[in-house]
Amino acid sequence: MTTLPNCPECNSEYTYEDGAMLVCPMCAYEWVPGEENNAEEEKVYRDANGNILQDGDTVSVIKDLKVKGASSVLKMGTRVKNIRLVDGDHNIDCKIDGFGAMKLKSEFVKKL
Ligand SMILES: [Zn+2]
Repeated sequence: MTTLPNCPECNSEYTYEDGAMLVCPMCAYEWVPGEENNAEEEKVYRDANGNILQDGDTVSVIKDLKVKGASSVLKMGTRVKNIRLVDGDHNIDCKIDGFGAMKLKSEFVKKL
């Protein structure tokens, strides 16, 4: 009998195999064994100039961006305070005056 690794997310021991994946029934996390170490590596997010962004940074938008569901355009030069980095296509979570909570791509901002 093989021993499955604990869940890398919640450390539960009740993991089970599902094809090539391992699944944790406690937190619903799924991963491919052997790759969980890569997932723990801290991801680096860079702005348009290649500077590394961090949570809490203030950035400025480098081009006019259309905002889904908003009537106005997010103008180039708009300051965005206190960003939060997230994993995803739009990797910056933030709040912008006049727009509210929204997501941006790090490639369209520069760190101030
Ligand atoms: Zn888990």
